[in-house]
Amino acid sequence: MINLIIFGPPGAGKGTQAEMIAKEFNLFHLSSGELLRQAAKDPSLEKEINGYLSAGQLVPDKLIIKLIDEPIQKYIENNGIIFDGYPRTLNQARLLDETFLSKNLELPFIINLELEEEEATKRVMSRAKNSNRIDDNLEVVTERFKVYHQETQPLLNYYIEQNRLVQIDGRPSIEEVTKQIIGAIKK
Ligand code: ADP
Repeated sequence: MINLIIFGPPGAGKGTQAEMIAKEFNLFHLSSGELLRQAAKDPSLEKEINGYLSAGQLVPDKLIIKLIDEPIQKYIENNGIIFDGYPRTLNQARLLDETFLSKNLELPFIINLELEEEEATKRVMSRAKNSNRIDDNLEVVTERFKVYHQETQPLLNYYIEQNRLVQIDGRPSIEEVTKQIIGAIKK
């Protein structure tokens, strides 16, 4: 069983890499952003969720935690889960650890995809035309970065203290980064 978290700023390649790694190791790819975009198709949730997404803000912990619990419970005892975009707050991280601990499962390790804001912004902007996402525009990307620095990046310390963090350079090609991650997983 392999459980891991793909971490990093917007545009670092979390989704792309999570997809490749999920295939390679037969894991369940759990993307919180995708989960929210799907949930927003429900008219009763659309306004609330899209309000946060289009502003580049995190949705409240309560909402994402409620949404993500079902797939976690469903897949946690399978071959493994690759978390993409989750957790993003200390509260989410602690709760996720508790879920694993309560089932006597080893805690997931973290792959941190490092990429500078300038390059990450370029990537988001170049995918913007095809992504159809309400948050892939320059103004919102800038806000997403701000939120990343304020609320999500501090999580790295939590994981470093626990010795669960692996740093991966996000600058090389998609294939090269995948290779690096596979290498780290096999170690
Ligand atoms: P990116 O990592 O490129 O920002 P995501 O698809 O992971 O893209 O996230 C898109 C948006 O969904 C975020 O800006 C945020 O509004 C919301 N979101 C995703 N994951 C979470 C989470 N774990 N907690 C709160 N909000 C989230």
